Amino acid sequence: MQDAYGREINYARISITDQCNLRCVYCMPAAACVSAEVLRPQQRQVPQDTYLSAAEILRIGTVFADLGIHDLRVTGGEPLVRSDAVDIVRSLKKIPDIRRVALTTNGQLLGNMAASLKPAGLDGINVSLDTLDAVAYRSITRGGDLALTLAGIDAALAAGFSPVKVNCVLLDRDRRDDALGIAALARDRDIRVRFIEMMPIGMGVNFAGVSGGEVRNILEEAYGPWEPAGAADGSGPARYGRFQGFREAIGFISPLSDRFCGKCNRIRLSSTGFLRSCLHGEAGINLRPALEQQDDVQLRDDIVSAVNSKAAGHRFSITADGQEQAEQAGPGAAPAFMSQIGG
Ligand code: SAM
Ligand code: SF4
Repeated sequence: MQDAYGREINYARISITDQCNLRCVYCMPAAACVSAEVLRPQQRQVPQDTYLSAAEILRIGTVFADLGIHDLRVTGGEPLVRSDAVDIVRSLKKIPDIRRVALTTNGQLLGNMAASLKPAGLDGINVSLDTLDAVAYRSITRGGDLALTLAGIDAALAAGFSPVKVNCVLLDRDRRDDALGIAALARDRDIRVRFIEMMPIGMGVNFAGVSGGEVRNILEEAYGPWEPAGAADGSGPARYGRFQGFREAIGFISPLSDRFCGKCNRIRLSSTGFLRSCLHGEAGINLRPALEQQDDVQLRDDIVSAVNSKAAGHRFSITADGQEQAEQAGPGAAPAFMSQIGG
């Protein structure tokens, strides 16, 4: 379906939980449950029973498909901490007219789950990985085990996900070696690497990040020219290209330095049932009432309303010194956490 600006909306990111087994420093606060003193009410962690059930997610997915939103990504929080994650993937994939179901994960639990996600119908896996240094990984994720995520990537490749995509967010310019190491995964294995700019969302406001252009310069110094690929390399926000001798492409997703809102095709469903039309701001609609009333006509109307509320673009900006910030331009300008939005 089209939004008010004529953009084709055909992709939904579905967060199935806002809980996570990691606490990445730029994503979540250190504490599992954040107190009211720190956060606004809508940002608090929620009791387990307020998450959408697998059946509710299936109902929403069915209406999405009916509206032409046929490309889904299951995310979180960490989606694989939810015990019915594989069942959710399986049921979404069975919806007629759903073309693709993919998953974004930190990979900590993937080693044991990749083999069951493949037969469940999962089409693609993105693993978030910001460094190949085990000590830095533990520090950035506040306790994560790099070996587990690497084992998860191995298991995904062995299960037949090819390529596996790795998403890397660099904290700042000091993490130059991380960029080189992560990029080398695309040189040596069937791993497509994407560098994503740090956004001023959640704890991301505390980090400078590195622009896509700067990461490209760092990589070009080591690996030679990055040759941009043609349009065939995907319709999403990533700009892909290749370094000579690399097996896989390297992409840059640069929402701040290379704003792609004009081509945005997505909406985001939170794990509690709020359908958000943009990463930034709080425009959207709570689908819970329609779900509770078992009213699929209302559900459809609500989804259409949310799509129609989609803004022309985000209001993140880059300051003169290169720092990213969220413009505080009225109600809804302050962003929540990626783990709650469904990053
Ligand atoms: N837990 C899963 C994972 O880490 O892949 C899925 C959810 S996580 C919120 C999805 C992605 O959001 C991760 O790749 C993470 O790096 C990214 N992310 C979180 N906070 C961010 C921020 N402030 N700016 C840019 N990306 C961010
Ligand atoms: Fe968890 Fe993903 Fe956020 Fe890291 S980025 S804290 S793994 S939700």
